[in-house]
Amino acid sequence: MEHKRVVIVGGGITGLTAAYYLQKEAREKQLPLDVELIEAGDRLGGKIKTVKKEGFIIERGPDSFLERKKSAVRLAEEVGLSDQLVPNGTGQSYILVKGKLHKMPSGSFMGIPTKVGPFVFSRLFTPAGKLRAAMDIIKPAKKVEEDQSLGLFFRRRLGNQVVENLIEPLLSGIYAGDIDELSLSSTFPNFYDLEQEYGSLIKGLRKTRPQQKKSAKSKKTSMFRTFRNGLQSLVDGLEAGLSAESVRKNTKVDHIEKKTEGYHLLLSDGTVEKADAVILSVPQTACERMLSQYEFFKPFRKSEATSVANVAMAFDASAINKDIDGTGFVVSRNSDFRITACTWTHKKWPHSTPEGKVLLRCYVGKPNDQEVVNLSDDELKDIVLKDLNKTMNITKAPEFSVVSRWRNAMPQYTIGHKDQLDKIEAKMRTELPGVYLAGGGFRGIGLPDCIDQGEAAVNHVLNYLFE
Ligand code: FAD
Repeated sequence: MEHKRVVIVGGGITGLTAAYYLQKEAREKQLPLDVELIEAGDRLGGKIKTVKKEGFIIERGPDSFLERKKSAVRLAEEVGLSDQLVPNGTGQSYILVKGKLHKMPSGSFMGIPTKVGPFVFSRLFTPAGKLRAAMDIIKPAKKVEEDQSLGLFFRRRLGNQVVENLIEPLLSGIYAGDIDELSLSSTFPNFYDLEQEYGSLIKGLRKTRPQQKKSAKSKKTSMFRTFRNGLQSLVDGLEAGLSAESVRKNTKVDHIEKKTEGYHLLLSDGTVEKADAVILSVPQTACERMLSQYEFFKPFRKSEATSVANVAMAFDASAINKDIDGTGFVVSRNSDFRITACTWTHKKWPHSTPEGKVLLRCYVGKPNDQEVVNLSDDELKDIVLKDLNKTMNITKAPEFSVVSRWRNAMPQYTIGHKDQLDKIEAKMRTELPGVYLAGGGFRGIGLPDCIDQGEAAVNHVLNYLFE
């Protein structure tokens, strides 16, 4: 069999997954295959970055992944890290609405109520707001052929109050975007399916989600996982599993040219790398820059990504006079706060914080407050402390802080995202056979979604080269 060469562009979790599984397949099936992973930065992991300081484990980017989507746990097993997995602490979470903290009504899933009691007694909504949400049970499903915004969909089903005080803060926490712009079919297509099948989100969720035991003491289940030494362990484990000569850091792919035989990749050091197949695990804008000679990539040039920053602050426990018994809160847009969320990391992830200390991690950067990310570290710390002190009583300065800025890093799957991607990938199949897109910029931003896409790209490449 002829020897083949695959180049993976981008060494975030997606590219790493693809490189790892491709090399594994080549080894196990004795395929004549070389794999090269090319990363612009001086380290692998992309958005995954763990900082260890004075006994604290601080995540600059993602802090965990959903356990339910199995690919991340599977990958951890692959690289021998299963025994390092830790579940999140399952304390009370809160929503800050108009300056007041409210308990997240128990039994709500992504803000959609599934239990009557906690919802009826919640002070998050007026009686009219509750009645409007209950209409979801009788309001007929609406068949919508085209994509629609998350905001429109949820407002139609549950009314404005539930959206503004519960759903919006939760969803915009995940996507750092405007739910009235974000696409339903690219973010939560299952909610549309539930509506169509059960005629109601509440009924649909009650039928399909495992119900918790009735006992008031029944413990909430942990939905998230991380690693004892931070998410960086997964990156390090994957890197250790790759053959050293297959990884090239500090090298950017500037341009890709299709040749009669495969592809030529022009690299930032002036050299040319040849490939029979290419996996692009980089943001949309980077794909467009590398392949700008193809008109059909043009929509990627305009693709939007929002910016956020987070500030992790380490305190001595004695600095917090009025603590809150919980794992954190998200902030509704109608609150006069600049932070959008705060995690009591020492409670959500007790392993991250030494005994007797407290670790708070807060986000800033609403879609309409993007410039906040450009403020200095001191200004950001000041904003965060002022906002926190509206609900807590912090009496001492943090022992240290870690500020992380993520500029244009949160891809926005706006209405029509999936259709646009389908069209571009259809064009690629004819004009760029053997080139595949994978990663957070395309079909899911969560770490397991990125890992799934890395795995799918491996299958495409193997089918293309060897079937
Ligand atoms: P990236 O990690 O962006 O990697 C792409 C890589 O490509 C980068 O290393 C970049 O340097 C490289 N590159 C770019 N252009 C080129 C080029 N021309 N040549 C060579 N290399 C290039 N997800 C969760 O599941 N849980 C969370 O808690 C969570 N929290 C998040 C918090 C923040 C602040 C952010 C920003 C994201 C969060 N996410 C979370 C989302 C998740 O982290 C990302 O979707 C995921 O890490 C993206 O991985 P990726 O490999 O697709 O891309």
